Amino acid sequence: MNRSAIFLGATLLMLSSFSWYPNPADGQMPTKIFISVDMEGIGGVGSPLMASSGGKDYGTAREYMTQEINTVVSTIFERIPNAKILVNDSHGDHQNVLHGQLHPKVNYIQGRIKPLGMVQGLDSSFDGVIFIGYHAKAGDPDGFLAHTGSGAVKGLWLNDVEVGEGGMNAALAGSLGVPVILAAGDSAATAELGQLLGSETVTTKTAETPSSARLLHPQVVRGMLMDATITALDRMENDEFEPLDLGKSIEIKMRFGSTTHVDILLSIPGVSKIDGFTIRYLAEDMDQAYRLIRLMYSFIRT
Ligand SMILES: [Zn+2]
Repeated sequence: MNRSAIFLGATLLMLSSFSWYPNPADGQMPTKIFISVDMEGIGGVGSPLMASSGGKDYGTAREYMTQEINTVVSTIFERIPNAKILVNDSHGDHQNVLHGQLHPKVNYIQGRIKPLGMVQGLDSSFDGVIFIGYHAKAGDPDGFLAHTGSGAVKGLWLNDVEVGEGGMNAALAGSLGVPVILAAGDSAATAELGQLLGSETVTTKTAETPSSARLLHPQVVRGMLMDATITALDRMENDEFEPLDLGKSIEIKMRFGSTTHVDILLSIPGVSKIDGFTIRYLAEDMDQAYRLIRLMYSFIRT
């Protein structure tokens, strides 16, 4: 072998070990996926009681929810056996997933008292975010059980982009440089999030009315979730997803159903009133915005 052949060989060796083949031994981090799971958009959930702890068939909804997560994570592990997956329970009291039935290789966050709520545990080390069981934003007439955070909120705008829970969570992920790769929920939720995020979507049901739904069978939904997860991973590996970027500083506008709620929120330094039902706050970044929004809709009640 002459000198240039040795140089070429050494160069190829360096390239192959440093950039072509991800290998934890080379310092490459394993793929990390964050999953936030709500309940209203889970396949087979078609009444408010089913999504309400203590309501009729709530236990069945918990099973369907857990099975949807398992479908998605099993599909990920089949493709990426050393993937790191964090699941964050994001519905009601954040104590819904049947942990004992959850895929044993995932980490799971349970419990509601957490400042970043539905995106607690997410940081910039993740490669992609998946939303399961999501619903549309408050006031969407085509949504099943549509709301934003709680029934107190009538509308939420971040730098004049109207968002619901999905958009707000995606904005926090986007501020960390992490894209949403897949969103599953009712037809209004997937229309909203598919358009805002360009993510893969799985439509699990269509609202007949705001509190009744035309359902696909849960098994059919799980088949669709498997296919969409494969496509989402393909697209993620090809860098086809963009993190949602709403800008560095975030102007929050939030409309409530009660003027009393607004008057109480004026106690927070920096919060001002746009009209009797609407407040404004300028946050330094999305992290600050998220914490304040969650506080205002979830923990400050009238
Ligand atoms: Zn929910």
